[in-house]
Amino acid sequence: MAIVRNIQIKLDVAEDDHSVLNEVFEQFRYAAQYVADYGWSDDPTQIIDSKSKLNDATYADVREETNLTANHVQAARSLAANALGNCRDRILEDGKKASKPNFRGSVVVYDARTITYNDDHCTLSTVDGRITADYVLPDESYGTPFAEYWEDDDWKRGEATLHKRDGTYYLHVSMKKERDGEASATKYGAVLGVDLNVDGYLAVASTGAFLGNADYLNHKRAEYERRRGSLQQTGTRSAHLTLMSIGNRFSNWSEDYLHRVALALVLEARRYDCDAIAFENLKHIRKRISNGSKFQQWAFKKLQDFVEYKAEEYGILVATVKPQYTSQRCSHSECGFTHEDNRTGDEFECLNCGKELHADYNAARNIAWRLVQHWLKSGAGRANCQVVLKSGTLNANGEYSSATSCGQSGSPLTSPSL
Ligand SMILES: [Zn+2]
Repeated sequence: MAIVRNIQIKLDVAEDDHSVLNEVFEQFRYAAQYVADYGWSDDPTQIIDSKSKLNDATYADVREETNLTANHVQAARSLAANALGNCRDRILEDGKKASKPNFRGSVVVYDARTITYNDDHCTLSTVDGRITADYVLPDESYGTPFAEYWEDDDWKRGEATLHKRDGTYYLHVSMKKERDGEASATKYGAVLGVDLNVDGYLAVASTGAFLGNADYLNHKRAEYERRRGSLQQTGTRSAHLTLMSIGNRFSNWSEDYLHRVALALVLEARRYDCDAIAFENLKHIRKRISNGSKFQQWAFKKLQDFVEYKAEEYGILVATVKPQYTSQRCSHSECGFTHEDNRTGDEFECLNCGKELHADYNAARNIAWRLVQHWLKSGAGRANCQVVLKSGTLNANGEYSSATSCGQSGSPLTSPSL
């Protein structure tokens, strides 16, 4: 099964080549519009979206009236055909209104025959031969889509669309990766448990990885709220504009922060060969942190969504469990003693076996354990399922085995000062 992710690359196009690219935009727009005009009908049952019919009726004309390559003429035809099909479905299937597709010349489709990707540049077909455009990549790529997809050989660069915004060219590239095997979780079931927190470390994994800093996130949020409050009181138009811009900046910043923590969690799961990542069910967390703000709920949801999105690429399952007693239960081997006095703040000390652990780390281990229990109760085929710990694994009977090939700790996000 293939997974597709779209990324945007800024292009550096020599000044001399701008006019020929502008011509490509215009002629591509013309070609797509020509096809859309032909295929459109005010009677939706008469709209033609068959690529071969549209091609037979328009190809020769468009080739003659433009200098586009044959491949670009076909790409424009496909674009128009898809737009026509969408319009028809919208009207006939969804009962909504739709008017004839209107192309505005802001996009050109490139495929394997019209774009060639090289290390630091690509070449693009135009209406007059090929031009070369350099990629403008970020200096620091860690955690960006470039490091994740562009610089990763597992991802193949596929079809792209070229856009021009405010005089700058961007390539939206569709990156494709073949994913090996479906849900290996059913075979092995090694689980990384994750405890999320409204203060202290944002996420703590059953492997002992402490990721992100919830206090820092809350602090940035409070700072933003303070500024927002005072700007709202000012009430002027310029205050309003500033308000919008700091709002966007804060939401970009916080999403980026959560994205990085999510990447680190998936990295941790991969490092320990996990087949699944277990979180507490958000509905239950919401109850537990009833004093927590909407922002914290949003942040947890966002973080889980990011993890799920990223984990999918590696065939890692993301599951949630009920969080009852995950903070009170002793996660040490076969103990499992559950008592509210086991925990005091960040410290967990089992009243039964005396085991001492960081409270969130203990909770993360219990979250993974709960998923393993759930699997065992719900069916066969998971005889090997186990909780993944810092230096070994714990199976469903609480039997510990030490790891033979554990990764190194020291992910770039373990510092609380991030
Ligand atoms: Zn214990």
